[in-house]
Parts: sequence; structure tokens; C-alpha cells
Amino acid sequence: MHTNIQVISATVYPMALLTAGCRHAQQVFFQLPAHIRQPVNAIVGVFEEPSEMSDCCSSSCEASAPRKHTCPVNGAEGVEVSLRTIFHHLKAPWAWAAQPQAYYFCSDPGCDVVYFGEDGSTLSKAEVRTTIGVKESSLDAPLCYCFGVSKSDALSDSSVKAFVVQKTKEGLCSCETSNPSGRCCLKDFPR
Ligand SMILES: [Zn+2]
Repeated sequence: MHTNIQVISATVYPMALLTAGCRHAQQVFFQLPAHIRQPVNAIVGVFEEPSEMSDCCSSSCEASAPRKHTCPVNGAEGVEVSLRTIFHHLKAPWAWAAQPQAYYFCSDPGCDVVYFGEDGSTLSKAEVRTTIGVKESSLDAPLCYCFGVSKSDALSDSSVKAFVVQKTKEGLCSCETSNPSGRCCLKDFPR
């Protein structure tokens, strides 16, 4: 693929770029020569010109990425998760070397893997600081991370789900960073 790289410099935290939530931008970043990547805190933007830039981080960019991949431990299909999500849930995110590839969330209750990469690398429950509600049988386990709803909260009061639905409609949820799956919790509510 032909790329015409444009690097814009300023002072910024490196994670602001790497967790920007767009895998396409991350891939372009990792393609840069090492001597450019080193002073990463001097780079605020890496863009691919001309036309793809406007597509990036839009729904069309999301749709072009591989959305699902098989967990290397249990063989179940996992849905893609952003680096932003992973960095918000690791116990020691500063010690994790993110690779220029897609990462996925394993939601199988019986599997110890939380995140896995296309290269087969894994991050287990022990490496994540958040309790993975969908992997726990306890009623105290978190269900909605944005609003602090446990499974028992949802089971004992049906208005709780209505509240979450309403707040999600109002755009007041924070699933990408709060929920370790990076996705909306409503699919996990008891029916
Ligand atoms: Zn798994």
C-alpha cells in the first residue's frame, strides 16, 4: 500500500495517539521508521494522505477492520477491542508492549483469556485489574461498568435496565473505556 506520511509535531502524551481508538492510525504509526517513532512524545498526529484520512475513525474505517478472531486458548470467537479499552483495564499498562495488530476480547466464561492479539498473544484475568463480569458467576459481578450495576441490581429491579437504556440513548455511557469488552453492556443484561 502506498502511503504518504505526514507527521505533525508538538508536545503530547504518546498514549493519546496510540489509544486514539483507530487501529488504522495505529498501524500507520507503527510503519514509521524507528528514528521517527522514538521521540513519540513529539508527535501529535500521523495521517495518511490524501483521501483515507477522512475515512479514518469513521464507521467506514471501523467496518473495514477484521471484527472477529478466534481465541487461541478456547477457540471461541472474540470481537475486536481498541487499544484504548485494553490500556484502561490492564494492571500494569506501562509494562505492556502493544503490537501493531488487532486485539480481541474473549467473553467465554470458561476461558482465562481476556484479550488476545492476532499473533496469538494473550492477556489473562490475572493481568487485568477489572473484574470481568461475563466470566464470573457471582451475582455481585459487574454488569454495567458505566453506572456501577451488578447482576443482582439488574435482577432485583427492572427499572435499572431502563435507566441504562435511557442513559445510553443520551450518550452518557462510557463503554469503550469503562467496560473491559469495550462494548455496550446492554447485551449482557438478564432477559
Ligand atoms: Zn478465550
